[in-house]
Amino acid sequence: MTELQLHAPEYYNMVNDIERHAADPDKLALLWENEAGETKQFTYAQLSKVSNQLANGLKELGIQKGDKIMIILPRIEQAYISYMAALKIGAIVLPGSEMLMPKDILYRATHAGIKAVISYHDLVSRIDEVRADCRTLETFIVCGGTKEGWISFDKVIEGQSEEFEVENTRADDIAFLNYTSGTTGNPKGVIHTHSWAYAHQAVAAKLWLDVRDGDVVWATAGPGWAKWNWSPFISVLGSGATGLVYFGKFEPKKYLSLLDKYSVNVLCCTPTEYRIMAKEEGLDQYKLEHLRSTVSAGEPLNREVIDTFKKYFGVTVRDGYGQTENSLLIGTLKDMEVKPGSMGKPTPGNRIAIIDEEGNPVERGQVGDIAVHRSVPALFKGYLNDPERTAAAFRGDWYLTGDQAKEDEDGYYFFEGRSDDIIISSGYTIGPFEVEDALVKHPAVKECAVVASPDPVRGSIVKAFVILRDSNAASEALVKELQEHVKNITAPYKYPREIEFVSELPKTTSGKIRRVELRQAEKARKAAQA
Ligand code: ATP
Ligand code: MG
Repeated sequence: MTELQLHAPEYYNMVNDIERHAADPDKLALLWENEAGETKQFTYAQLSKVSNQLANGLKELGIQKGDKIMIILPRIEQAYISYMAALKIGAIVLPGSEMLMPKDILYRATHAGIKAVISYHDLVSRIDEVRADCRTLETFIVCGGTKEGWISFDKVIEGQSEEFEVENTRADDIAFLNYTSGTTGNPKGVIHTHSWAYAHQAVAAKLWLDVRDGDVVWATAGPGWAKWNWSPFISVLGSGATGLVYFGKFEPKKYLSLLDKYSVNVLCCTPTEYRIMAKEEGLDQYKLEHLRSTVSAGEPLNREVIDTFKKYFGVTVRDGYGQTENSLLIGTLKDMEVKPGSMGKPTPGNRIAIIDEEGNPVERGQVGDIAVHRSVPALFKGYLNDPERTAAAFRGDWYLTGDQAKEDEDGYYFFEGRSDDIIISSGYTIGPFEVEDALVKHPAVKECAVVASPDPVRGSIVKAFVILRDSNAASEALVKELQEHVKNITAPYKYPREIEFVSELPKTTSGKIRRVELRQAEKARKAAQA
């Protein structure tokens, strides 16, 4: 096996990894479908030409190397084209999800000082609402329609040359400015250089997603999320595969039928999407016979999902752990034996450790902080305009992920939870994930979140918020049953002493559960009772 190369050459522009596939005029880059069933397809050569035109058009509008361009687009080809064009100029892409609200846009635009924005006709009113306060913003480009005060995407590319000389960026020039999900506080502007994309691709695309040239890959993340950079953009197009793009809402039956329709080989979904698909009735009507590689990231992956996908489709869903700040740090790579409940092992070339308060590695089996050594090439270059939070993220030479885990005798990592989410009850440390994992195994449970709830005797107790599956009614008997169920699966002291049935859980716009909100509500409730 050739040695894994994670360090980019001194001059490297990541867009060239996509561009090189345009040499073959027929190579398919994207298969697109929307909710109405309309379809389109695009070759690498087409993406290359239109992004060259856009790069020329942007330059004419005064956009230069180093300028920041916010791109807020849904799952349409112009998202790919806009990212490519910006990178070709050497500009910095600030990915924005279509879920961003005016206040989120204002926060990013002023925090980063963006110069141009490319957005979609039905989203631009959100930008217009805060436009007057976005002082650095000069250029407004709209896709999919026209809007007063906006230049249309088609006008920008009209009459432009299909040739463009890609900026010969240094590998340490900034390529992306990704804001974090904001699960725990204000989003942070994560600085990533072109070299980050290089290091990410070497590991995530080849060893985890296992994308091969010519594969049909469906990575369901939407543009604007770090995961869109990770998978649909860098890993899929960088590997010469064909990306499936579905411009529509998540609906389990639809997703399953698209996997069949497009003979998808590689699937990258969130744990929630997998979970909802796995709980779907009548799974045996879907074949998914071309599916070879299935991965999950972003939140803990439940065993239930792994078992169901194995049973019905013969594939093993493999977990991957990483953050906006880095890359795939820990994962179950292709050909690796899966240990259900474990995320996998540290990925090659990425120096990861579980450390204690002093920054020393803990003993195997002990819970500690997941840390990444400073030297890791896929680690971010800091939070933009935020030296304090950047410094606070390090303990000596180790970057702290803010998550906790333990390692078993075979080197597999088990996720315990975000440091803030860990529950300490009567001196026992309890990771919420293990309890949640046990709860969702119960057929009555659709979704759940487990947090610490203040308790005068135990310090904290384990409290579960549970959403039931349609046909199940909340009752005292069910509370008892769920408690017994958890006691049988995990250590008895971990069972939820309180269970509350709810109809929804607080989530970030990317769908992650915000346990911090539940925890604060519990604190307030108990304080009011006292
Ligand atoms: P913020 O930093 O703004 O609070 P965030 O941490 O949710 O938001 P992301 O960078 O999108 O922003 O998410 C990374 C986090 O997601 C990790 O730190 C971890 O808590 C969680 N995570 C990612 N992958 C996994 C996984 N495979 N298993 C468990 N948790 C995961
Ligand atoms: Mg984070």
